[in-house]
Amino acid sequence: MKSILLYAEVTKENYLHTVLFELAYKAQELAAKLDNAEVNALIICKKGMTELYKEAFINSGFDKVYAVEDNRLTHYSTEFYSKIASDVIKEVKPDIVLIGATTQGRDIAPRISSSLHTGLTADCISLDINDKGQLAATRPTFGGKLMATILCKTLPQMATVRPKVFKPAPENIVKNTEFIYIKPEIDGINRKTEFIDFVKSLNTSINELDSASIIVAGGKGLKNEAGFRLLKNFADAIGASVGATRGAVDMGLASADIQIGQTGKTVSPKLYIACGISGAIQHIVGMNDSDKIMAVNIDENAPIFEVCDCGIVGDAFEVLPKLTEMLRG
Ligand SMILES: Cc1cc2nc3c(=O)[nH]c(=O)nc-3n(C[C@H](O)[C@H](O)[C@H](O)COP(=O)(O)OP(=O)(O)OC[C@H]3O[C@@H](n4cnc5c(N)ncnc54)[C@H](O)[C@@H]3O)c2cc1C
Repeated sequence: MKSILLYAEVTKENYLHTVLFELAYKAQELAAKLDNAEVNALIICKKGMTELYKEAFINSGFDKVYAVEDNRLTHYSTEFYSKIASDVIKEVKPDIVLIGATTQGRDIAPRISSSLHTGLTADCISLDINDKGQLAATRPTFGGKLMATILCKTLPQMATVRPKVFKPAPENIVKNTEFIYIKPEIDGINRKTEFIDFVKSLNTSINELDSASIIVAGGKGLKNEAGFRLLKNFADAIGASVGATRGAVDMGLASADIQIGQTGKTVSPKLYIACGISGAIQHIVGMNDSDKIMAVNIDENAPIFEVCDCGIVGDAFEVLPKLTEMLRG
């Protein structure tokens, strides 16, 4: 029987990373096109932790969950986790392996693919099964000017996908999930790194962007710090988080942590308001899954208006203070 294996990342706060549920829903669609393949998950964690996530797995359409538990696996370790994942994949032989392109996913995925001598398509923005039953993984290339659909000649076919690229299932997909516990073989592995402590970033904007339901983003059209101050005032008035283009980051107007786009974050808020942003493809790929998009741009021909639900042609230095005043009441 064919199968798709998803890597279930446990965050340092001991949650299942939300990208798992986004991939799980996508995997159901792929499985239907792949002779009704099984959708399975691999979780690597501290002893007893899988129990906490059982309901989430059962409600997310997983047929089987391979759980590798050990107290030496309390914190992510490149050497332990990649060895375990490779061992499990060799044993269960999935056709496809999908991993979230999180910090952990970006670390573990290439190690697994090189240890299994198979291909990996990183940072995909679309996944499909072609008429030959192969995984067709699409990602931006040539600086985002082209979309390349990549096929892998070897098994398993591996891909990573950034969080928020796909949507989770709108409702539970309940399955009679089988949980298979596997003992890890990690004795004698020489770890080159040791976990000491997590240090919380002082910059909370990164996490805020992930969960924000409204994002107000600024581009080079805001010109200077005064322009970004107007943007921040507007964001405060409507309870939004602030994002930026690479153009604005390069000008020193915003920190790289809040850059949205191909080389920044992928976001999908309920409302995305782009101010002084031209709408380059490298920016669009990071925000075009937003429910509603609005733009303020002085140039009525700016490409951003092509992806907008509603737009204001005008000078952001005039429009933003007016909107702020109006919405503050
Ligand atoms: C490999 C690669 C990766 C990249 N990754 C990213 C990425 O992750 N994210 C990203 O954003 N970009 C990325 N870029 C850069 C991208 O190609 C664009 O250069 C960038 O998005 C442009 O930023 P911008 O829209 O702020 O600036 P511009 O393209 O210069 O647009 C400024 C806009 O502001 C408007 N404007 C000017 N004055 C006003 C005013 N007073 N009021 C209102 N509007 C005004 C203009 O009409 C214009 O449309 C990448 C590029 C490459 C090659």
